[in-house]
Amino acid sequence: MFDTIVIGAGYAGLVLAERLASQQNEQVLVIEQRRHIGGNAYDRFDTNGVLIHEYGPHIFHTRSKEVWDYLSLFTNWHYYEHKVLAKVDGKEVPIPFNLNTIEEVFTPALAHRMQQKLVDLLGYNVKVPILKLKEQDDEDLKFLANYVYEKVFLNYTLKQWGIGPEELDPTVTARVPVYISRDDRYFQDEYQGLPKFGYTEMFKAMSDHPNIHMLMNTRYQDIMDIGEEGNRLFGQFFEGKIIYTGMIDELFGFCFGELPYRSLRFEYDTYDTEYKQSVGQLNSPNSYDFTRITEFKHLTGQQHPKTTLAREYPQAYRSGENTAYYPIIAEENQKRYKQYKKRAATLHNVHLVGRLAEYKYYNMDAVVATALKLYAKLQHK
Ligand code: FAD
Ligand code: UDP
Repeated sequence: MFDTIVIGAGYAGLVLAERLASQQNEQVLVIEQRRHIGGNAYDRFDTNGVLIHEYGPHIFHTRSKEVWDYLSLFTNWHYYEHKVLAKVDGKEVPIPFNLNTIEEVFTPALAHRMQQKLVDLLGYNVKVPILKLKEQDDEDLKFLANYVYEKVFLNYTLKQWGIGPEELDPTVTARVPVYISRDDRYFQDEYQGLPKFGYTEMFKAMSDHPNIHMLMNTRYQDIMDIGEEGNRLFGQFFEGKIIYTGMIDELFGFCFGELPYRSLRFEYDTYDTEYKQSVGQLNSPNSYDFTRITEFKHLTGQQHPKTTLAREYPQAYRSGENTAYYPIIAEENQKRYKQYKKRAATLHNVHLVGRLAEYKYYNMDAVVATALKLYAKLQHK
């Protein structure tokens, strides 16, 4: 009856479901454990009517025209370029730390010297990961690197991950490099914006196809068996494709041990004023237990007399108790992931894709790109 079963209705699952249904005329069953589609990018209106992101702030940005054009089939855009400030030594300064930030925190003479040296030694419009900047020999740049490391990265990272910057894969802190530029935007990608009527509306448009059959509020384990000896749906052998976007360790009963994740707790406040912050995101590296405060209306462009903000409190992930938000990208965990990946290759017609299934710190656009790539690969089988 079904050609393909998709497990998970986030980006990864819905891109595959949409392509297979609309382009290959396949009958697709999507199984989702939550009561809503969209995975962690799900948004909704709160009780005050303000559009919020239920699982943390999501800002879409990509360099890929293919990804942008694909999503544009299902949504128009609210063009938005993200700006972030961080509270450093009592001042709110632009992040990524850039040439403008330098002027805000150092005396004019020192700031000028640092700016000059950065440009001369490393070049203009260059992004330097903080762990790389720390390797510089020049005394002024060493001082700068230690300052940024201490005031922007160290405590934020300890809060966010429960471990220091050096214990994580360097790609994690490199997501927010020191930027030798006057550009205060958080992202420099060519395409940036949020779906005009929200992510959930975009996902609804993607899944609105007569060949797509949604089974919500259902864990796949309750109706399916997936294993080396074959796959079953409601006890019957299922010969079609399975697209799996859940956690890879869960697929194998955690046989090699759990892959660690970081979780978050959100606290929301609504105010009877149009705006509370000057920008969408305020980072708090050195004070409080939360990492950042997001004011959603800056992101969504919604006009509303009230405004809602969310504070993010990182916490350990505990299976069954809270949500697995971030894979913890570190050497030991990657080794364990590879064991699972090897085992996944022995399954029959099961394809793993997405943040949880590939245990990757993917942004939304990367998940769409990977899902489109998998779709293309499936056509050439
Ligand atoms: P998910 O969105 O996690 O979807 C997986 C789906 O599978 C879920 O709906 C889940 O319920 C379902 N599922 C899992 N197990 C089962 C099961 N056993 N049975 C049935 N269903 C199951 N990216 C950006 O580009 N920009 C941002 O600003 C950004 N901000 C983020 C902020 C936070 C706090 C977080 C956590 C992530 C952020 N991301 C951002 C990343 C983005 O959320 C992901 O890239 C994207 O949502 C991943 O999509 P996915 O389909 O792989 O996974
Ligand atoms: N980071 C930091 N201070 C900041 C911003 C980021 O230390 O002010 C580090 C931190 O380790 C964080 C990582 O850089 O987890 C990536 O930041 P990003 O904003 O990309 O995180 P995300 O939006 O995915 O939570």
